[in-house]
Amino acid sequence: MKLILASNNPGKVAEFQDLLGRSIIPYKEVLGTMEIVESGSTFKENAIIKAQRVYEALGKGDWIVLSDDSGLSVPALGGAPGIFSARYAGPGASDAQNREKLIEELRQRGIKRTPAYYTAAIAIATKDGIFTTHGWMWGEVIDEVRGSGGFGYDPLFIPEGYDQTLGELDPKIKGAISHRAKAIELAKIQLGVLE
Ligand code: IMP
Repeated sequence: MKLILASNNPGKVAEFQDLLGRSIIPYKEVLGTMEIVESGSTFKENAIIKAQRVYEALGKGDWIVLSDDSGLSVPALGGAPGIFSARYAGPGASDAQNREKLIEELRQRGIKRTPAYYTAAIAIATKDGIFTTHGWMWGEVIDEVRGSGGFGYDPLFIPEGYDQTLGELDPKIKGAISHRAKAIELAKIQLGVLE
């Protein structure tokens, strides 16, 4: 069955292809661009909203739509940016603008390094219903950009057990330990049952 990804974020599309070990089509290639309002109050709710919206726009049927709602939470900032990770610096903000905003928030509080974690919620919309999985990655964020690998907040995030950021580390390491990798491992089990 054809898998569609309810995201057009190139960083996510690349990681999904790699981690699933099969091709997944970003929804834009089938449906063009459309607005999806992420009105949920948790990663899980937003993942379900995205997967259902795309599944319905495809006319339901035999497609399997996967979505990922993810983000970075910093307890010292009250959990921010959390579900607002993609729009931390404002609607339509770029990854670089969001990183700058996080650096500014840390520096304003005199924080050079503090615990943080990524969450990924995946929703799978099918004719048999909707299923969800989660994954987390723990580590620390720092108040400066290091490296240029990955996407989003990766150049600010040092995973537990390492001393470099995800912007500096080999992408294979992120692929082995990330929030998305863990959620996708569970999604693969679910896909095995559904297909
Ligand atoms: P979403 O597309 O609404 O789920 O927003 C996800 C946002 O969270 C991205 O735009 C990034 O800012 C951040 N994010 C999620 N996962 C990652 C990751 O693996 N690395 C870096 N940033 C991430």
